[in-house]
Amino acid sequence: MEPYKNCLSLTRKLISFNTVNPPGQERDCAEYLAKLLEDGGFKVTLYEFSERRTSLIAQIGSYGDKAPICFAGHMDTVPLGGNRWEKDPFSGEVNGDKVFGRGSSDMKGGLAAMVVAALRLANIANRKAGITLVCTASEETGCQGARHLAKLGNALREAGALLIGEPTSNYPLVGHKGALWLEVSTSGVTAHGSMPEQGENAIYKAAQVVTRLQAYKFDISPHPLLGAPTLNVGTISGGMNINSVPDRAVIGVDIRTIPNQRNRDVYENLQSYLGQEVEIERIVDAGSIITEPEHEWVQEVFDIMEPFCRKRPVARGVTYFTDASVLTPAFGNPPTLILGPGEPAMAHKLDEFCYISKIEEAVEAYVEIGNKWCG
Ligand SMILES: [Zn+2]
Repeated sequence: MEPYKNCLSLTRKLISFNTVNPPGQERDCAEYLAKLLEDGGFKVTLYEFSERRTSLIAQIGSYGDKAPICFAGHMDTVPLGGNRWEKDPFSGEVNGDKVFGRGSSDMKGGLAAMVVAALRLANIANRKAGITLVCTASEETGCQGARHLAKLGNALREAGALLIGEPTSNYPLVGHKGALWLEVSTSGVTAHGSMPEQGENAIYKAAQVVTRLQAYKFDISPHPLLGAPTLNVGTISGGMNINSVPDRAVIGVDIRTIPNQRNRDVYENLQSYLGQEVEIERIVDAGSIITEPEHEWVQEVFDIMEPFCRKRPVARGVTYFTDASVLTPAFGNPPTLILGPGEPAMAHKLDEFCYISKIEEAVEAYVEIGNKWCG
């Protein structure tokens, strides 16, 4: 197998696996990486939460006094979208400093950089701490792969620091908001549309719920880095046909939470705010993540990233969630940073690309961060 000194060829190889989620189908990609990492001296285990939905954990070095550093990324991508791509989404076409393809920025470029860095780090002499690499399935639809690994109990073991390679254009981020996606249902009684007085209209009830949601206020002051929590009604559906009284309507609600705000409390508060007659189902429940910027390891990574960012990074967070929502608590809350070569603006876009020079820089940065931790 190709040794992949060159991270571009691995990025292109990863792009060639169609891991559009749904349906995901990460197994081939995971098996490919497993072989590569095994050849590099890693102990690799594959885990499937369902048929062909495969995550991978690779480990090298013993668990001594210092817990390993963990590099983590997801293998799935979002769908291609409704419009036609000009580039082939799976060929990894290169044009100048850009490599194109679904997942190039989010986050196969980052994953390739992590794998190449891990393979280089495998050869550190007198290693003080181990290296763990976690490649997950199904991050994009709510971190199912990471959740499965966390639930197994003994698969993830421990980590002293966690790096998530999501697209940040190589800027280290200290945290992100959590997500709580809800389906709020109202129910009624159906009747013929010409005799509405005989029914009970679930859409009228839903309309009131939407108005209540629009007026909802979070009882928490904004986080200094992550800002205020938000709520958005994203979808609404209901009714079977125009000439019936609808007996069911469903409202999709996207809430983004901040530290010091538990998703569970938000959910319970919303249930009592809307009343017991509405049914609330949790579709995605991912907590927020924040690491103290003063943490020694964060400052160490800021030191390393200063030349790459051309100025000293400052503590920043983002609104989107990552596998850290699941992995950080599963590892016992080690310091966590989000740092990857992808372009945040390119994630989920048509003709997605990643700068090749950023992927190369990410390899250098990961190797340096790993060396500091393990060397
Ligand atoms: Zn991603």
